[in-house]
Amino acid sequence: MLPGPTLLKACPHCSRHFLVPTLTSGNTFGAIQYSDGKTVAPMLPEMPRFHLCRDCGKPFWISEAPELGRTDELSGELPRDLQTARVPSADEYLEALQKGLARGEEEERTLRLGWWWAVNDPERALRAQEAPPPRPEGWEVELSRLTGLLDRDDPTHRLFLGEMARQQGRFEEAVQLLSESVPEGLQPAARGLLALVEKRSRRVEPLPRPN
Ligand SMILES: [Zn+2]
Repeated sequence: MLPGPTLLKACPHCSRHFLVPTLTSGNTFGAIQYSDGKTVAPMLPEMPRFHLCRDCGKPFWISEAPELGRTDELSGELPRDLQTARVPSADEYLEALQKGLARGEEEERTLRLGWWWAVNDPERALRAQEAPPPRPEGWEVELSRLTGLLDRDDPTHRLFLGEMARQQGRFEEAVQLLSESVPEGLQPAARGLLALVEKRSRRVEPLPRPN
């Protein structure tokens, strides 16, 4: 992994400056795919896609924020109290949604999937014998909002729906969803998820590597 330049950008709402780390290169060696579809790669860290400005409190997509330059090329000293964009927490995803960041169904799905993965993140590092943390308050409601944005006829979405049914303990529904035919590339994931249903697991787990 090679870190890229740090960009200086401006909040599109209040013009307050903030920093954005970038990557020049990365790779997926050692990547782990989890049952919820998130892939975590040690050499390819997750980068923030939106930022909640801590001055005006408004959310925006980082790619749409005006770029003022790279910090290594800017002359003069940068103020010390600059905010740095970071990967949002689960609560920040909900805050961004509530403040209207999503302009349509696709962006809403992106944000709600981000929320779900962020909620699941603490479980990824757990050992098998450690109990997973309790789901946050309102989890079922938020999860049903996400399932409402997924299309059962889309094979990838169907795996998400199967995983959500599994996490909620609706194992028969999970088996139905996960047993429908999927393209070859998704078959290892579908098999891995069905194996988790079979052992009546509700926790987020790494899937076996396809080979
Ligand atoms: Zn702002």
